[in-house]
Amino acid sequence: YADIAMYNAKADGRDNFSFFTQSLNTKIHNEVDIINDMQRAFYDNEFKLYYQPKVDAKSKKIVGAEALLRWIHHEKGLIGPDVFIPISESTGFMLSLGKFVIQESSLAIRRFSDLGYNGLKVSINISTRQFQNTDLYQDLKEELSKNDVDPKQLGIEITESIMMQHIKKTLTTLQEIKNLGVSIYIDDFGTGYSSLSYLKKFPIDTLKIDKSFVDDISEVGNNDEILLNTILAMGKSLGLDVVAEGVEHEYQYSYLKEHGCEIIQGYYFAKPMPEEEFIKLLHEEHL
Ligand code: C2E
Ligand code: MG
Ligand code: MG
Ligand code: MG
Repeated sequence: YADIAMYNAKADGRDNFSFFTQSLNTKIHNEVDIINDMQRAFYDNEFKLYYQPKVDAKSKKIVGAEALLRWIHHEKGLIGPDVFIPISESTGFMLSLGKFVIQESSLAIRRFSDLGYNGLKVSINISTRQFQNTDLYQDLKEELSKNDVDPKQLGIEITESIMMQHIKKTLTTLQEIKNLGVSIYIDDFGTGYSSLSYLKKFPIDTLKIDKSFVDDISEVGNNDEILLNTILAMGKSLGLDVVAEGVEHEYQYSYLKEHGCEIIQGYYFAKPMPEEEFIKLLHEEHL
């Protein structure tokens, strides 16, 4: 087949084959560069947590935030998690980053509480590898108690795929974490495979509806919201809270509020921001 591909490329008058290998090489080089640079960046404190407000739909008050990793590179500027999380996950560096996120979020919650915001809930994302290869329960417990943080102020966001792997062990871990007082969110809900019976069996507090379902809300009323409505109904009947993520427009916000979604996260209210900016926003009381 390689021969045929070469032949076609040549017949085309272009050297597609060498073009392909060259771009693959560039990609591998970039990844090696990033991997090496990540270690340095970690010790140079270039990784930071940004906070995106979660807003109560009715009062428009900030009730919490999602902590999201950013790499503030001294030369390249801001690098988003879509660039460095997949590489970190494949090299194991994610375990260091994951631990860092637990430490930093605990410290931040401590600071928020000291400013009087002790009802605020902060959620952190947990990668598959971190969930499976670390003692998450122990790590959370240690950091929370070290910083004298009320576990009720912390939540973890996991995906459906984490939930559906090594089911027995996952269930045990989640139960321990839940007993500690930490909340459990299912992230990007609706994009993976999780059976209804597991949703019931697992100690889940909140479904985070994936942005793709929020995008189905149409401005003109085309009734494209069937899946969204199903998820909202499912949350209600299972007694789970529902957060919508990726809300960008007023009409999406209105629709969600009118259909019983209580908590909203998205650019419509605010983008992820550095801690100082988030604190300023908290002082403003509501959005
Ligand atoms: P996620 O956990 O589903 O986070 C939501 C993503 O949607 C964030 O992207 C957020 O900035 C973005 N977002 C929020 N509102 C809107 C909106 O209205 N419109 C649009 N277009 N986007 C919106 P971000 O920060 O780039 O993070 C991407 C993904 O990287 C996260 O998806 C999460 O899976 C992963 N990630 C980020 N931080 C961490 C971390 O600390 N640990 C782990 N394991 N994963 C992380
Ligand atoms: Mg998340
Ligand atoms: Mg999400
Ligand atoms: Mg996502």
